[in-house]
Amino acid sequence: MSKLIDDYNVKAATKFVPDIKAPILPIDIENIFGENTFGLETMKSRLPKKIYERLLATIENNEPVDPTVADTVATAMKEWAKERGGTHFTHWFQPLTGSTAEKHDSFITPNKGGGAIAEFSGSNLIQGEPDASSFPSGGLRATFEARGYTAWDPTSPAFIIENKNGAYLSIPTAFTSWTGEALDYKIPLLRSIEALDASARRVLALFGVEDVQKVYSTVGSEQEYFLIDEEYYYRRLDLVTTGRTLIGAKPPKGHELDDHYFGTIEDRILSCMLETERELYRLGVPVKTRHNEVAPGQYEIAPIFENSNLGADHQHLIMLMLQKIARKYGLVCLLHEKPFDGLNGSGKHNNWSLSTNTGINLLDPGDDPSQNLRFLFFCAAVIRAVFKHQDLLRIAVATAGNDHRLGANEAPPAILSVFLGEALYGIFNQLAAGSATSNKEGGFLGLGSPVLPELPRHSGDRNRTSPFAFTGNKFEFRAVGSNQTISFSNTVLNVTMADSLDELATSLEAKMDDGMSFEAAIAKVLQESSQETKAILFEGDNYTEEWHAEAERRGLLNLRTTVDALEKMLDEKNVSLFEKTNVLSKKELESRYETWLEQYIITVNIEAETTQAMAETMVLPAAARYFGELTTTVTQANQIGAPSEGMQSTASATGALIDELREAIDRLKAANMTSIEDGHEHAVHMRDQVIPAMSAVRLACDKLERVVPNELWPVPTYREILFIR
Ligand code: ADP
Ligand code: MG
Repeated sequence: MSKLIDDYNVKAATKFVPDIKAPILPIDIENIFGENTFGLETMKSRLPKKIYERLLATIENNEPVDPTVADTVATAMKEWAKERGGTHFTHWFQPLTGSTAEKHDSFITPNKGGGAIAEFSGSNLIQGEPDASSFPSGGLRATFEARGYTAWDPTSPAFIIENKNGAYLSIPTAFTSWTGEALDYKIPLLRSIEALDASARRVLALFGVEDVQKVYSTVGSEQEYFLIDEEYYYRRLDLVTTGRTLIGAKPPKGHELDDHYFGTIEDRILSCMLETERELYRLGVPVKTRHNEVAPGQYEIAPIFENSNLGADHQHLIMLMLQKIARKYGLVCLLHEKPFDGLNGSGKHNNWSLSTNTGINLLDPGDDPSQNLRFLFFCAAVIRAVFKHQDLLRIAVATAGNDHRLGANEAPPAILSVFLGEALYGIFNQLAAGSATSNKEGGFLGLGSPVLPELPRHSGDRNRTSPFAFTGNKFEFRAVGSNQTISFSNTVLNVTMADSLDELATSLEAKMDDGMSFEAAIAKVLQESSQETKAILFEGDNYTEEWHAEAERRGLLNLRTTVDALEKMLDEKNVSLFEKTNVLSKKELESRYETWLEQYIITVNIEAETTQAMAETMVLPAAARYFGELTTTVTQANQIGAPSEGMQSTASATGALIDELREAIDRLKAANMTSIEDGHEHAVHMRDQVIPAMSAVRLACDKLERVVPNELWPVPTYREILFIR
């Protein structure tokens, strides 16, 4: 092995030496949890009672922020931040880049005496005005109208981010254009929570539940990620520029032995996880679960669920902290959906439910007949939402990165379907068949009567292949990409649910207006909806070919790629859904379409150029050197009359692979040189021409990787990256 390769492998393997003499960092959860957040407890202790109560009304009942409150809150926040070493503040927002953005301003204000004081006013807190011109807006804002506004979201606590040399105060905010259009992911999420609240309370009122002031969605998202040694990361142009490996042959050992999943966590990784979790606790992020995932080097972290606005902010903090803390351990955290071809990719399981402010989980079957009926109604609405808006759910997870994962054999396919588990599936089938209405006791299926069907509270059966599964008291949307914000997937879940609750409520009211009893009307609504939507229910293996054929027969959508999905985005159905729920105007929806299309094109383009660069400047020269050695050896062998057939055939085979690579590179170059103006056409070109051309280059590189001597190979290989830590 070459000296270089030896060196970096040994470095990667021996870098982490547990410092057994260092004091153990205490993780006293009760004491440190939330200590870096300006949360309710801190507010209560630091604000005058009246101000605190006004703020609480905003936080809990969505009352508008009172500007006179803001000054007092700002001062308290600043003092609190200063005590923690804070010198700066930033509005923290979620632009359409998909990550978070911040611009720091110091508290410093010079005074007349030549000194300075720390100042932070209510208006600093409530509103910011970052230059918005460089954020994606999908045409919502011309570059000359650069103004954008950030507006304080008091429902998500401000927090402190620490650095060895200082700290800053980070304030969660929404981001709009000066004309008031949402330029971010938070605003539509907040609006969708409002829409869901209105529809859900409408339904609850029909069920006679009157004491609920607010219904909101809850989310707990399981995050998968890879940790690799930085020695490898920085030697891979592809990982550094695109987050995934664009070349790389499958290692002799992948996850076939299943020895990584739930395996004992290595010491170095555990140290990194513990510190990450500790920092997340201090930021008030309730992380709960950790384990090794299926692929070598792959892990998972999951928090306890929270309301979806806070959960989405916290999800961003989880991703930020995973990446930040990894570096302290000489590791790099990969959040890409498919960093390694042929191995399991990373997703995010978006666990989602509905909760009332009185603490009822509306997707929990409950214990008594009336709760069961309500549960079935809400459950039917979820099924209906997925059935009617398969396209929107697919769009919510459509990125160039996630295209590599969805439908690959460890991840749900691009076809949406709902898994209910045997018992509940049986009930919905009976509902659809109508048998439920002909119960002679007058109830249906015994619901509303003392003879209850066993509703599956904690269904034992699981279906890991389903994109959308009922898991006892929540649904789990498993198609979300590991690198994505969960803000939009939850926006779509909320808005489609709001829509279907409304439809079912309207139908229920109409039947009652016609003189049906409440129970009979419910039974009829459930029957009709179950019949209409039963094609979306699937209990089998979503990975199989048969399911693809069956789904097609059922008329379900199979939007294989991001481009296919985006083509549906501006359909009349979607525009009117977002408009009537006030979640996104047509203009705002269009702007997201433009932005996502462009992001797809740019992502594929960067990958194509990186593939080309690596193939041409790294792989080809390495292969040429080897080929040179082979041909020289053959010539020399021939000169002395030594047998050279083996060398000759090796040289020929290598020469043929080099030809294949050269040709593939040229085709990729040609494909990538395009001047298509139209966004959609361009995206189609990237999908149909550039991605296949990239795959061909990769194939040739991976064949060469198997024959070119290790010491000549220009980048670390999978077998090194994935197994040495
Ligand atoms: P499972 O093993 O079925 O995935 P877990 O209990 O481990 O279930 O939960 C997985 C994730 O689901 C966690 O993040 C958890 O907080 C979240 N979760 C549990 N209940 C709810 C709920 N009512 N709403 C949203 N998410 C939930
Ligand atoms: Mg789960």
